[in-house]
Amino acid sequence: MKLYRILLPAICILSFNPSVSIATPASNEVVWKVKTDQKLIALTFDDGPNPVYTPQILNLLTQYQAKGTFFVIGKRVQLYPAIVIREVNDGHEIANHTYDHHYLKNYPAERLVDEIRQTQEIIFDITEQRPIVFRPPGGFYSDALLQSMKEDKLTVVMWSWYQDTKDWRRPGVDKIVNQVLNNVHNGDIVLFHDKQGDCSQTVASLKYILPELKKQGYQFVTVSELITKSQK
Ligand code: ZN
Repeated sequence: MKLYRILLPAICILSFNPSVSIATPASNEVVWKVKTDQKLIALTFDDGPNPVYTPQILNLLTQYQAKGTFFVIGKRVQLYPAIVIREVNDGHEIANHTYDHHYLKNYPAERLVDEIRQTQEIIFDITEQRPIVFRPPGGFYSDALLQSMKEDKLTVVMWSWYQDTKDWRRPGVDKIVNQVLNNVHNGDIVLFHDKQGDCSQTVASLKYILPELKKQGYQFVTVSELITKSQK
């Protein structure tokens, strides 16, 4: 039987072994949050681009001088290349989230790795940049997947478990806003989605979250920049 790790066991690991959250771009550790005494936060957006809502998110990030990280799906990059180019031109980070969002728990690891590599090339063809960060769909990973990502020089980045907004469930703007603002720490990695469908609650939440955290002195940086600021 193959063993897979998902979010819940990882939380348990974190509570026993805080060092699991610390990683450098070249390591094969999984990054959940970054230890820093600076008021830095990474906002991340998964499963895009979305032709309606991603541009609205980009407008808000520009308005508040915020940089974000977009964990894009290869096949959606092919559908909406202009949005990905805008993400790069606006100074955001593009990260790999596979070609078709299959979960490792019910998909062969070798095929998933092939699709991650295919997505690297799709993104490079469109943006002339190769991502250095990967996030597995659903948060499912295995030692074999981590080893492949290490060979491909991709850092595996998850999210701060208390900063999972679950915005894809459309839980209400208040709930998303409170999840982020009530739990904010230096070095957090916040999980949002700009996936296919209605992301209006995500956009509406950012209209509260961005000005409030900015007022509190936080700076919004890409995941890779956040990792470079981590304390050893
Ligand atoms: Zn996803």
